[in-house]
Amino acid sequence: LETLDTYKAILGEIGKLRSAESLLAWDQQTHMPGAGSAARADALGKLSRLGFELATSDELGQCIEELEARDDLSDEEAASVRDVGRQYRRQKAIPPDLFEAFTIAQSKGQAAWAEARAKADFAHFRPNLEKLVDFARQFAEYYGYEDTPYDALLEPFEPGMTSRRLRKIIEPLKAELVPFLERIAAEGTPPDADVLVGSFPVNMQREMSRRTLEIIGYDYGSGALDDAPHPFTTEIAHGDVRITNRYEEDDPVSGLFGALHEGGHALYGQGMGENLYKLSLSDGASFGIHESQSRLIENQIGRSRPFWRFFQPIIGEFLPQLAGVDAEALYRAVNVVSPSLIRVEADEVTYNFHIMLRFELESALINGETAVADLPALWNDAMQRYLGVSPNDDADGVLQDVHWSMGAFGYFPSYMLGNLYAAQVATALRADRPNLDAEIEAGDFEPLVSWLREKVHQFGGVHRAEDLIRRITGEGLNAKHFIDYVVGKFSDIYRL
Ligand code: ZN
Repeated sequence: LETLDTYKAILGEIGKLRSAESLLAWDQQTHMPGAGSAARADALGKLSRLGFELATSDELGQCIEELEARDDLSDEEAASVRDVGRQYRRQKAIPPDLFEAFTIAQSKGQAAWAEARAKADFAHFRPNLEKLVDFARQFAEYYGYEDTPYDALLEPFEPGMTSRRLRKIIEPLKAELVPFLERIAAEGTPPDADVLVGSFPVNMQREMSRRTLEIIGYDYGSGALDDAPHPFTTEIAHGDVRITNRYEEDDPVSGLFGALHEGGHALYGQGMGENLYKLSLSDGASFGIHESQSRLIENQIGRSRPFWRFFQPIIGEFLPQLAGVDAEALYRAVNVVSPSLIRVEADEVTYNFHIMLRFELESALINGETAVADLPALWNDAMQRYLGVSPNDDADGVLQDVHWSMGAFGYFPSYMLGNLYAAQVATALRADRPNLDAEIEAGDFEPLVSWLREKVHQFGGVHRAEDLIRRITGEGLNAKHFIDYVVGKFSDIYRL
């Protein structure tokens, strides 16, 4: 067999195993009865081991080496070899014994974290976190880096991104948005959030989400919407991109924005051709770019005035108590700015501060500048600096996210980058489609989705994040677009 065919055949095998794994994991979160969890964990473990063996096989390594030396590959094939090669070398870099010890520390870490969080007792989690940080630091040495160990951990989420660059990106954000938040609090006229107070049947909220996803162009012929404790999107395979969501009876819009967010991720997955799935390029350009697609739909569109002019009768149809609230009041009510303790509840102005804080802390941990024992105090201090609030206990503070308990360091910045990429892409979108607002107000999402398909979705992981952004907007990542967007939008809402 020709090397390229062998390479594609191996990716095909890995892809089938991953597809089965994703389906079992999706089912675990949606329909699996609780008593099935032990058998499911075994089955998932087996599939994951089989996939790992293939993904680290000498045969695949040989293919990568031969293909890297060739110059007759298509753009897609070359991008595939670049990414698969990068992952292959990372996986091979870690001694198997060390990796196995890490996976044990991960599951112990998650259990200890869940217990510590329930008891709001950081000390209970501390020894586990110390071990996980130690593993991450060892891994960084094996992976290699130019500047700081943390950069080696950032790499799989945001290839090419460095902490030095992140600090540069954060500087103007901090300089502009900290005082802007203070101005909102001191001089702003807050929207009336009470218009959304009430009890809203979950089944009606679910139907509203189902309908909303259809309206924005999510294709149920190659997707499904189910309930799960946490919203997520999973690409089971080409032609099968599923969404999960959750609803709260006392909040009529958290489920709606969950659906719009996941809908943005899912449109990305549904907008990629089969070839990208076959070449292992269906994860997108980076985690941050994936998040930009969800944030664009959720915030740039879903929290915009034209969207609420369109959506007002629809929300009234599903949730009749809201039928009498006008579009402007709804628009204002879904855009309340309020410094909160919890990242996942944060608004557009304050969200990035939650990420800056985590980035500061986790990079200092990995680079050996901070001890795990000091985290709670440093956390609370940073919350004061950025948001002017302090958690009452560690459950609402340093223990709130699951990421560190899984040894996932370097993940958080992608959330912030997603917001910044979304604003920059939206600037280009608005320049290309001056009638966008009128289209959204008329409920016509087709031009929007077509534009995203053409500029972002169809490429999957072919272009690196920075290259993709440059192609779309003519410049590299620039936080100015986000600052302009947020200051403009919320100056209007808060009448500053
Ligand atoms: Zn997301």
